[in-house]
Amino acid sequence: MLEVLRRVVQEVNGAADFFEALHIIVTRVKAALEIDVCSIYLKSPQSGRLVLMASEGLRSESVGHVEMDPSEGLVGLVASRAEPVNLDSAQDHPRFRYFPETGEEHFLAFLGVPIIHQRSLLGVLVVQQHQARKFDDEHVSFLITLAAQLAGAIAYAEFNDEISSETPLIGHVNVEATGIAGSPGVAIGRAVVAYRLADLDSIPDRDGAGVESELEHFTQAVAETRTEIEDLKQRMGEALGPDEQVLFDAYLMLLGSDSLVHKTEGRIRNGQWAPAALRDTVRESVRVFEDMEDPYLRERASDVRDLGRRVLSHLLPADRSQDEFPDGGILVGDDLTASHLAEVPIERLGAMVSAKGTGSSHIAILARALNIPAVMGVSELPVGRLEGREILVDGYRGRLFVNPNAELRAEFERLVREERELAEDLRALAKDPAETRDGVAVPVLANSGLLADIKPSLESGAEGVGLYRTEVPFMIRDRFPGEEEQVQLYEQVLASFDPMPVTLRTLDIGGDKALPYFPVKEDNPFLGWRGIRISLDHPEIFLTQLRAMLKASRSHDNLQILFPMISALDELKGAMTLLNRAREELLDEGFRIPMPRVGVMVEVPAAVYMSEMLARRVDFLSVGTNDLVQYLLAVDRNNARVAHLYDTLHPACVHALETITEGSHRAGKPVSVCGEMAADPAAVILLLGMGIDSLSVSVSSIPRVKWVIRSFSTDRAEALLAQCRLLENADQIRSLLNNALVQAGLGGLVRAGKT
Ligand code: PEP
Ligand code: MG
Repeated sequence: MLEVLRRVVQEVNGAADFFEALHIIVTRVKAALEIDVCSIYLKSPQSGRLVLMASEGLRSESVGHVEMDPSEGLVGLVASRAEPVNLDSAQDHPRFRYFPETGEEHFLAFLGVPIIHQRSLLGVLVVQQHQARKFDDEHVSFLITLAAQLAGAIAYAEFNDEISSETPLIGHVNVEATGIAGSPGVAIGRAVVAYRLADLDSIPDRDGAGVESELEHFTQAVAETRTEIEDLKQRMGEALGPDEQVLFDAYLMLLGSDSLVHKTEGRIRNGQWAPAALRDTVRESVRVFEDMEDPYLRERASDVRDLGRRVLSHLLPADRSQDEFPDGGILVGDDLTASHLAEVPIERLGAMVSAKGTGSSHIAILARALNIPAVMGVSELPVGRLEGREILVDGYRGRLFVNPNAELRAEFERLVREERELAEDLRALAKDPAETRDGVAVPVLANSGLLADIKPSLESGAEGVGLYRTEVPFMIRDRFPGEEEQVQLYEQVLASFDPMPVTLRTLDIGGDKALPYFPVKEDNPFLGWRGIRISLDHPEIFLTQLRAMLKASRSHDNLQILFPMISALDELKGAMTLLNRAREELLDEGFRIPMPRVGVMVEVPAAVYMSEMLARRVDFLSVGTNDLVQYLLAVDRNNARVAHLYDTLHPACVHALETITEGSHRAGKPVSVCGEMAADPAAVILLLGMGIDSLSVSVSSIPRVKWVIRSFSTDRAEALLAQCRLLENADQIRSLLNNALVQAGLGGLVRAGKT
């Protein structure tokens, strides 16, 4: 059964369109279970009714016509109960309803299971049989497992079909997809698909340069691949035995085969551009190989995929020209990263949409820093079909609309205008101090990682840099930057803000932050080798960075160094030893370097309970709520499936923040928050109530946060915090604080969140 399951799911994932996917399910299930009927009913998003969408066994003319309300019939019963119904004689059940067009009267046994995706019902999978019988447990559990596995694929295929290339711009309008809010703001623009080199799956559909030139391009890429493999074979000849060398011959044979080359050429002649033609041919051949009974032949699927990638790398230009990027273009990708961002002209970028990731992924943090709306984790996003389509992006609610009609576009144009007006009003605050109504200063600093942030941060009135993520410049290079390279980089930041403080955080890689040239492969990366752990294990990398930071500060006395992911005092002691060593080396070399202020990030639950102890040994604490919240709530910050559970206003998070603030203050040291919680207007009120000493947020959030600080007195914030302590969940806390924002005249910030 497991094998059948695997095959069906695989075939469905590879189906050309939605209807083919449904057809595959019903035919394969009917054959595998040796039953008389298999049908799929799907819930129409418009009417809420269950429509028969595919059947193997019922009369074909009933498909697309038979439909019922969830309160009717047995299929409706499965849907409304959201659990299986297994009957030996359907017609004896009081809920049985007869549809003459199906020919259903001939089937007595009935088993229906719901198809549920992310808690909502997509439809019902039904099997039926002539003779009266109860389906056994194995059938029931097979169907439940299949329905659970197929739900995601069906949701994806359904959405994909709505905007398929066969129905361009007419027919399906306002196709909505939801994900997670990544960066606030609304935008209207045309999609540009970001593809990674040699990644066939991320190749978008698009117009080519004409059949002849695409064919020529493809032929040349095949010839170059052939030469490459022949070279490889020759180079490896001495090391490999004749058996292994055959592998290269197999590659060369595949390359000359009808299936790969001719089929791709055929697709190009039908109008596809060469990379997409190759993508489809490779997918088709992979499917054929994967379906083979012989395990050896099945393995050949990966050879085809590998070969496809090789040809593709000769087919694609090394870099897509930035000139091609339209004004206000929406960058769309399967898993957008900082390097995708590096390839586009930022000034023309309208918004970003990624099928993977969440609001605390680094690409979302960068989007907020750049003030660009972003939607993350749109799991059903058919990336390859979006190129050139008009998209409306709502970064507040994490949703987008493809192919908008005039009415919806006009609505978004109005929102874009309102946004601009609010931003202009807020800009006027740049020169005003960040202090509460009773005059307590709570400086707002900037989070950064890009040199491009410096000017906008200064213009927004940032009072320094509270968090400079040094891994960002590391991520967009193809090797570790050397000492001098780093010195120059850090010096620019220190100089731009001098005399305001600049907090350089030491390298925080691992977890979700990978360096392309330093891969760390782990089953559980967030609990693995990351942050300070890597730095302490690689003193050569760490010392280079510490030396560069210190050297950069030789003519600026505003450096603060921050250590990430500290979970024990020993780690802090180890880091301090290396920092002192780096400074002594530089002093010996004749540099006059002041001792920087040093801080520890509190982002691991252990550090919450050690905050006083840690604070006694350093100059300040900085709370990294992005990680802290994920560890406290056991919710992966990048997993869209559990993103709804990630809430910084969870009572446990509020309590942890209070523990840290009190601990730090007992040690007589200031504490700031540099995670995204500090940019949430509602959370800012609570932090003020706790007596937070400063906040550090993305550039785009600075004016909003300042507005909140200037609108509340510490007494009022303390009173609201006291009320929140009595509440039992994040929703209650949020609604209390949102009311307080509205009462204080900051409804604009709340409304923006509800668009
Ligand atoms: C955090 O964890 O809150 C933080 C600021 O660090 P990063 O988001 O870079 O992990
Ligand atoms: Mg962190």
